[in-house]
Amino acid sequence: MANGGDSGRRHFRLTAHPLTIHHQPKTRGHIISRTALVTGGSRGIGAAISVALRDAGYKVAANYAGNDEAAAAFSKETGIKTYKWSVADYNACAAGIAQVEADLGPVEVLVNNAGITRDSMFHKMTPQQWNEVIGTNLNGVFNMTHPLWPGMRERKFGRVITISSINGQKGQMGQANYSAAKAGDIGFTRALAQEGAKAGITVNVVAPGYIGTDMVMAVPEKVRESIVAQIPVGRLGTPEEIARCVVFLASDEAGFITGSTISANGGQYFS
Ligand code: NDP
Repeated sequence: MANGGDSGRRHFRLTAHPLTIHHQPKTRGHIISRTALVTGGSRGIGAAISVALRDAGYKVAANYAGNDEAAAAFSKETGIKTYKWSVADYNACAAGIAQVEADLGPVEVLVNNAGITRDSMFHKMTPQQWNEVIGTNLNGVFNMTHPLWPGMRERKFGRVITISSINGQKGQMGQANYSAAKAGDIGFTRALAQEGAKAGITVNVVAPGYIGTDMVMAVPEKVRESIVAQIPVGRLGTPEEIARCVVFLASDEAGFITGSTISANGGQYFS
C-alpha cells in the first residue's frame, strides 16, 4: 500500500517533544508502509505495541493464542487484523506468517511479545510448567524469527524486537522457568544481532519492569504493593511506555542499535 506521493519524509510525533522518526522506505517518490507482526499483539503490552506501530504508519498484524473474545474486541476497536496461532508451534508459526504475508506483504518488523508465566518455587515446579514457559517465551522466539529470517536477509532490511523482562536480567524467585526463558531471549538476540548486522537486520530486546497488564494485575494486591515499593519511580509502568521503545527500535533511525537491551523498569534494576 502506498501512502501517497509527498516528496518529504513522514514525521511522527511520539511525545510532547517534537521527535522525527522515519519508518518507511521511499520508492520512486512513494512511501511504502512496512508490515509489522506483533505476537501476543491483542492484549496488554502487545496491544499497545500494535496500536503504536499502526499510529506510526505500519501495516500491523496482531497474533494471539486463544482468547478470541479479547482479539475480536481489539480488532473492532483498533481496526487491526488479528491472527490466531500458538508461537510454541513451529509449523503453525510458518503457516500463520504465510497468511499474514499474503494479506499484508513481507513482514519487515517482528515483535516477539507473546509470553506466559507458570510461577512456582523450583522444588514444586513440574516439567509441564517448565516446558510451557520455555515453549512459548523462548522456543516461540525461535519459531517466529526463523521463518522470517531468510526474507529479511534477502531484502537487506529487518527489525527483530523481543520483549524480555527484568526477571530475565536479575532472576526472580518462583520464576526459574520464566527467568531462564527471558535470559535466553537476550542471549539469542546478542548472537543473532551479529549474524544480521551485514544484512541490515537489527535484533534487540526491550526488558520491561513491572507493567500494569493482566499478567501483573493477576498478582494478589498485597504482593503488587510490595512490588511497587521496590520501584524507584513509585508506580507500575504502562504498556504505552514499552510500546514507545519498540517503535523507536523499529524505525530506520535505530539502525546503529543492535544486540542491545533497553531496560524500561522505573529504575528498579540497572543491567
Ligand atoms: P498478557 O498476559 O497481558 O498478554 C499476553 C499476550 O500473549 C496475549 O495476547 C496472549 O494471547 C498472547 N500469548 C500467550 N501465549 C501465546 C502463544 N503461545 N502464542 C501466541 N500468543 C500467545 O501479557 P503482558 O502484556 O503482560 O506481557 C507481554 C510480554 O511482556 C510477555 O512476553 C511478558 O513476559 C513480558 N513482560 C511483561 C511484564 C509485565 O509486567 N506485564 C514485565 C516484563 C515482561 P491470548 O489473548 O490469546 O491469551
